[in-house]
Amino acid sequence: MDAVKRLKKNLQNRKLDALLVSQPDNRRYLSGFKAGDMNIAESSGALLVARRGQPLLLTDFRYQLEAEAEAVGFEVLVYKRGMLDLLKGVLSDRGIKRLAFESHYFLHRTAGKLEEMTRKIGVEPVATSGLIERLRLCKSSVEIDRIRASVLLNEQVFQEVFRELKPGMTERQVAIKIETLMREKGAAGPSFESIVAGGPNGARPHAVPGDRPLKKGEPIVIDMGLVLAGYCSDMTRTVVLGEPDAKTRKIFRLVRQAQKAGIKAVRAGVTGAEVDRAARQIIEQAGYGAQFGHGLGHGVGLAVHEGPAFSSRYKKKLRAGMVVTVEPGIYLPDWGGVRLENMVVVTEQGCEVLNTDTTFLDL
Ligand code: ZN
Ligand code: ZN
Repeated sequence: MDAVKRLKKNLQNRKLDALLVSQPDNRRYLSGFKAGDMNIAESSGALLVARRGQPLLLTDFRYQLEAEAEAVGFEVLVYKRGMLDLLKGVLSDRGIKRLAFESHYFLHRTAGKLEEMTRKIGVEPVATSGLIERLRLCKSSVEIDRIRASVLLNEQVFQEVFRELKPGMTERQVAIKIETLMREKGAAGPSFESIVAGGPNGARPHAVPGDRPLKKGEPIVIDMGLVLAGYCSDMTRTVVLGEPDAKTRKIFRLVRQAQKAGIKAVRAGVTGAEVDRAARQIIEQAGYGAQFGHGLGHGVGLAVHEGPAFSSRYKKKLRAGMVVTVEPGIYLPDWGGVRLENMVVVTEQGCEVLNTDTTFLDL
């Protein structure tokens, strides 16, 4: 209930009576209710956390049993004629006058209906964004343990697949192997569509695995992550079957050097932009600045992409307990790409690298 307590304090400071939580990861973070949404228009429920009193989980018949088992400390209410209809009665009963909602995960159409409903009962809807996401930035020790377990399982999957890699296998075959093994080993599934990109395909940072066979000597980018106990992992390795040529070696070493510089720069109190700079300047000085066109890293937790960010735009200071990727890359059209990605936990003195895998990290 620690997260709920922190939210209640937050509501008090902002003079809000309650927050309606519709974003699935936020819902899970606060309540433990695991269900995701089919899509944004088909919700599995919403939390209503008020400054005072027991928090509520509003859901429908399909999720009632899971909700009651998973959302410890929450009272589960089941709606029959839609969430807003049930909410209307609850707001009146509880004397809620200023109701915040998550404008970043709410259909415009639903917001319109909420406005219409609240007007009738004298409640003021307040659009907010990122309230819970900010609470999620720093991970608790329980969360860090879960993330670590996710990272370690992901590495096991990678290592098994790596041992079986052979020239002639297609990118798609490798991706299917990765995702099957993840599930066999107990993961809920991949945390994003796995990337297996051989040769020139590696020049596209978010390449989709296709029918191209892997070839000897070319760099192969493998970016993969899984979900375990709700928490995501995300790791990239660039591997070569057979002997890498001089150019591959040169690009690879440069990316690895940038990654090490990035990791070295991480510490509570420095900004995300400063960490990005530390890695980027190495790639820039070698003349490949334009070929590293994305940020150095992103936060990972219940979502595979969340705050904070290692990017030139992130000027806020890092805090201990944040979990972030460090993933520089160099992408050369018609040739390919090299990206290396590890996950770190920010500490007061520096950071802890969660990855233990060293396959192909030092060419
Ligand atoms: Zn990744
Ligand atoms: Zn990533």
